[in-house]
Amino acid sequence: MASEPSTERPPLVEMAAVGKVFVTEKMETQALADIDLAVAPGEFLHIEGPSGCGKSTLLAIMGLLEEASTGRYALAGTETSGLSLTARARLRNRVLGFVFQSFNLISDMTVVENVELPLRYRGGVHPAERRERAMALLDRVGIAPRAEHFPAQLSGGQQQRAAVARALVGEPALLLADEPTGNLDAGSGQVVLDLLAECHAAGAAICMVSHNPEYAAMADRKLRLQDGRLA
Ligand code: ADP
Repeated sequence: MASEPSTERPPLVEMAAVGKVFVTEKMETQALADIDLAVAPGEFLHIEGPSGCGKSTLLAIMGLLEEASTGRYALAGTETSGLSLTARARLRNRVLGFVFQSFNLISDMTVVENVELPLRYRGGVHPAERRERAMALLDRVGIAPRAEHFPAQLSGGQQQRAAVARALVGEPALLLADEPTGNLDAGSGQVVLDLLAECHAAGAAICMVSHNPEYAAMADRKLRLQDGRLA
């Protein structure tokens, strides 16, 4: 069932004047500045911009992988500044799913173990149910017969399907996708894109970084980043 982006429910993502400075010995880089952004539940947001403009940094902050240097960020109604590492991890596991260009599967775990991981981190899900849910997802992405293989035994397209299964297994309210089909052939890319579209139709919000105008055309809203600022 398709769901309209909600304007009534509070935003999933709420950023006010967010900035990010990376400091190294040699230099300071202002990767983001003055980002004001709200993402509604169920909204599909597309983000583009030239290399180095801050797209990955923005997703990393949204995903609680990096902390903003300045400004405010609330995720699913929780203010994130000052949260402990454990609280950040718990919030991340409760709300978010990630699909990156470089699959990021854990090489010494089987495919099904990788897909189960978010449920293991979340806790409270019985091992048998974890396995069942992971297998159901692998079936949905079309690689159930590969469940007991290790990531290196799969093609790039199959690895990304496994990564999508892992991202979806916890039924996240927000999917963060950074060039999710960047390393895939056209056929595998389409499968991954269809899965993301299905997930959006089922009610998840998506923030996707890509250079692909077709993907941008699927989004409810398009943003452009330029030198760390929203254009
Ligand atoms: P994009 O994803 O749009 O290519 P990024 O968000 O990766 O851009 O990077 C934005 C800017 O921040 C770039 O100038 C980049 O070099 C810098 N940057 C990103 N991550 C780091 C880091 N960990 N340390 C230092 N500088 C970084």
